[in-house]
Amino acid sequence: MSASAPARSADCARCLALCCVGPAFVASADFALDKPAGVPCPHLRADDLCGIHDRLRERGFGGCAVFDCFGAGQQVVQVTFGGARRRTTAMFDALEVLRPLHEVLALLDEAVASPGHGAAAADLRTRVEALVSLDAGALVDVDLAAVRGEAGALFDAVVVEARTGRRGPDLRGADLVGADLRRRDLRGARLRSALLVGADLRGVDLDRAELLGADLRGADVRGAHLAGALLLTAPQLAATRGDHATTVPAHLARPDHWAPVPPAR
Ligand code: SF4
Repeated sequence: MSASAPARSADCARCLALCCVGPAFVASADFALDKPAGVPCPHLRADDLCGIHDRLRERGFGGCAVFDCFGAGQQVVQVTFGGARRRTTAMFDALEVLRPLHEVLALLDEAVASPGHGAAAADLRTRVEALVSLDAGALVDVDLAAVRGEAGALFDAVVVEARTGRRGPDLRGADLVGADLRRRDLRGARLRSALLVGADLRGVDLDRAELLGADLRGADVRGAHLAGALLLTAPQLAATRGDHATTVPAHLARPDHWAPVPPAR
């Protein structure tokens, strides 16, 4: 990450709870109640912090526990709107653009380490950072599809390069919901946008496996080797169930809800 780059993770204390007010939610396994767009969640406190932050999963709000705006919320409030103290609908519009741009930036932070494509990734990161800095009026005209298209092609090239000598199965977009994958060799697998909800990945080695956009909600990764996985983001990791034996990429933190690493004897 460049010294001037915005932080790539949420800082709710510097936001105005935009993600707890702006989106509409339909009651589901991830969010326990219906909520119309623009209406504050009933658990939102007057100080714009969550009243059940330490009990989200137990209370049926697991989706909130894993959500990450990649730092877009504080960018909207502190930069785009100059440290405003009150929410406005224009902030929600800006967040709709900035959140996907910040996600692209988080992935580009990994891609810049690519030996063959790092320079292209750094160039694209600079251009996306310029978009992130636009004012609110210009932000809504950003061509998100074009940014995603260029980034997607670049991530493809990064993955192809990283998998050299380690070609696993091509499972892009595969429906692997609830699948027992413990005996599959997934080293170097392409799992872009794969549905891995509730999949059993215990002990699986995912070295150089592409996980861009894979749905890992509830996937059991206890003992899995994720340290070498490609294009894995913090919210994806937070949605899994891991333990002390799970390895994670160096740029990602171990989720708090995983079993703690036992102390050294
Ligand atoms: S449960 Fe908490 S984090 Fe989730 S929307 Fe409500 S206030 Fe926000």
